[in-house]
Amino acid sequence: MYKIAVDGPAGAGKSTISKMVAKEIGFIYVDTGAFFRTIALGCIKGNVDISNEEAVNEAIKTFDISFAYENGEQQVYLNKENVSSLIRTAEVSSAASVVSAYKAVRQKVNVSEYEISEKENVVMDGRDIGTTVFPDASVKIYLTASSYIRAVRRLRDYEKKGIKASIEEVEKEIIERDERDMHREISPLTRAEDAVFLDSSDLTVDEVVSKMVTIIKSKIEL
Ligand code: C5P
Repeated sequence: MYKIAVDGPAGAGKSTISKMVAKEIGFIYVDTGAFFRTIALGCIKGNVDISNEEAVNEAIKTFDISFAYENGEQQVYLNKENVSSLIRTAEVSSAASVVSAYKAVRQKVNVSEYEISEKENVVMDGRDIGTTVFPDASVKIYLTASSYIRAVRRLRDYEKKGIKASIEEVEKEIIERDERDMHREISPLTRAEDAVFLDSSDLTVDEVVSKMVTIIKSKIEL
């Protein structure tokens, strides 16, 4: 099975781009951030203190996380409830980057990542896919953009959902998340040595998709 790893910081466009690339090449798109977000949501719902690793470790034993595809869209379930839209808030984003630093949380997510990749050709996006999860991935891409551009994009997503925020707030949240994701002890976000670097700051979505498809086709036979 082929594994395409797409890593990079928050708001670089990984999910939008990876989803379109996967569709174009006929692979399954796996959004691994959604698993960390689901764990964070479970903690918030259960009033678990996310700064307490032990408490989070205990809580996640009771979380049954599963996912499925409906009309080509990945849906995530927490204890059989579809939480796909509930996990897209700023509160959950930030909590996800806190709990994702814990070993037991990463191990739980790894199980789902390995399971799907054994059955399907995948385009998987995250922070550590090319470095830790699949160091043997067929293609690795590190997708990034400036923090300002990433904040502008995130703000647009929020506006579409009717969530009010200022550009300053959103950029600050993104920079804080980058800090946590890049400096944690386990599986920090870094560019794998053999990953192709793509900066999407000055590119349209279609341009990034086309560049990525070209990179993939140069490395594997589709
Ligand atoms: O990609 P997304 O913004 O949905 O990810 C939410 C958080 O989950 C990230 O800020 C990061 O802390 C964590 N994450 C991770 N490893 C991944 C994917 C996401 O640590 N492979």
